[in-house]
Amino acid sequence: MKYKLFVFDLDETLWTVSEGLCSLVRPPFRLSTPDRLENDKGYWVELKPGVRDVFKFLKSRKCYVSLASRNDHGPTMDLLDALKVSEYLVFPQLGWRPKEESIQRIIKEIQKRDKVTIKPAAVFFLDDWPENVVPVKNWGATALIYGQDVDSYEELLEMLK
Ligand SMILES: [Mg+2]
Repeated sequence: MKYKLFVFDLDETLWTVSEGLCSLVRPPFRLSTPDRLENDKGYWVELKPGVRDVFKFLKSRKCYVSLASRNDHGPTMDLLDALKVSEYLVFPQLGWRPKEESIQRIIKEIQKRDKVTIKPAAVFFLDDWPENVVPVKNWGATALIYGQDVDSYEELLEMLK
C-alpha cells in the first residue's frame, strides 16, 4: 500500500447531514438504522454506504485513519461514538483550521506516539470541497474530491485493493 495515512472530511464526504452542519444533531438522538442517527428535532446524519468496509479494509492493512473536519469537537465526537466509528480513528481533527494544518497535526501526533514518520506522499485525503482539496494536493498528498474523483466507497475500496 502506497499510503500510510487516510484522512477524510466528514460532512457530505463520510456522512450526509440533514441541514449542512452535523452540530445540529444534538442529543438525545437515536440510531434509526446502524448508519443513521436522528434527534427529536428531525435533524440527522447518515454514514455513506460502504464507509465501514473501507475503514475495516484500512485497519486490516495497518493504515492510520483520521478526520479533518470543520465542526465542533465535542458534539461531533458524540455522533462518531454513537455510530461506532470513532474506534477506527487516530487523532481526529475537528476544528476550524485549514485541512492541511489538521493533517500536519495528525502526522505530528502519530510521530510522537508511535515514532512513525509519514511523508506527504503517503497521505490520502478525501473531501467534497475542491477548495479544501487543492492546498492538500499542493502540499504533496494525494487529495481527491468526493463526488467528482470518487463517487462511492465501493469505488474507493476497489481503487485501494
Ligand atoms: Mg464536507
